[in-house]
Amino acid sequence: MIIVIKQNPDEKQLNNLVKWVRSLGLEVHMSRGENTNIMGLIGDTSAVDIDLIRSLDIVETVKRIQEPYKNANRKFHPQDTVVSVGGYPIGGGHFQFMAGPCSVESEEQVIAIAKAVKEAGATILRGGAFKPRTSPYAFQGLGESGIQLLLEAKRETGMPIVTELMSVRHIDAFRDVDMIQIGARNMQNFELLKEVGRTDKPILLKRGLANTIQEWLMSAEYIMSEGNMNVVLCERGIRTFEPYTRNTLDLSAIPLLRDLTHLPIIVDPSHASGISKLVAPMSLAAVGAGTDGLMIEVHNNPACALCDGPQALTPEQFADVVKNVDVLLPIVHRVRDGK
Ligand code: PEP
Ligand code: MN
Repeated sequence: MIIVIKQNPDEKQLNNLVKWVRSLGLEVHMSRGENTNIMGLIGDTSAVDIDLIRSLDIVETVKRIQEPYKNANRKFHPQDTVVSVGGYPIGGGHFQFMAGPCSVESEEQVIAIAKAVKEAGATILRGGAFKPRTSPYAFQGLGESGIQLLLEAKRETGMPIVTELMSVRHIDAFRDVDMIQIGARNMQNFELLKEVGRTDKPILLKRGLANTIQEWLMSAEYIMSEGNMNVVLCERGIRTFEPYTRNTLDLSAIPLLRDLTHLPIIVDPSHASGISKLVAPMSLAAVGAGTDGLMIEVHNNPACALCDGPQALTPEQFADVVKNVDVLLPIVHRVRDGK
């Protein structure tokens, strides 16, 4: 971290700043010029409050040289992390399809969809039991019984399951879930992040609706700082001024994150676009940009879905996406494998 000190600073305040920085276990390197004085902080500055320093009278500007995330940072962990979900690896060249309904609606529905997406090539079954709906009057999901139905589908098909945890209160119901999803709306629910950080389950961390890449990585850091390194990032579109699509898929986040972090990155083109017709082209684009997997909403009867029908693919449409993605995977050095 570099602190630019104003001209002719109050020496007492400057000494106090140096003492305080040293008390944090950091070394101080001072370079005094004719017009500017620059203070370099050497050591781990991730716990230093940059806004506090910026607010001091004697400080002109402050710049972070080192990123505030350590565990997620590729600098300290150059190899790709591979996260295994029920025997299916994600990252480091391994690619998976996660597919299933937005919400679990009934036993017949989830089992029929699970069988169809498995047949098409999906290896991980998705389905919401606890649903984060904008309206309190909309279908809220089946809750714990929805998880039981997902587990039933897992028994029938052998597919590991991923489902969203919205509250620390529900965590006991997730004991047999293979991967816990933290949804966009909870990306900065720090207590929830810490709680899943204390489990040993793979975590699917979706990007918040209006969060920067750095904020997203800091949320991953929350999970990892509690000891759980099995984090997969999921780009699911961000809010922009464009109303034609539900969100705007930020594909540039993928190659960017690839340099910043060793964690696997997947894409959810369903929530990113909100329109079923856009899911196939956005899936191919995401593969081109280097995604390690795709999470796609599939429904056996999209017109009657209780949630997110307009963005759901039919099992046949999903099978087509898999076929087309398979053509591209060798070009981006990815394989679909596992178990
Ligand atoms: C979901 O995957 O079911 C979901 C609600 O997604 P998001 O949190 O990205 O909106
Ligand atoms: Mn949905």
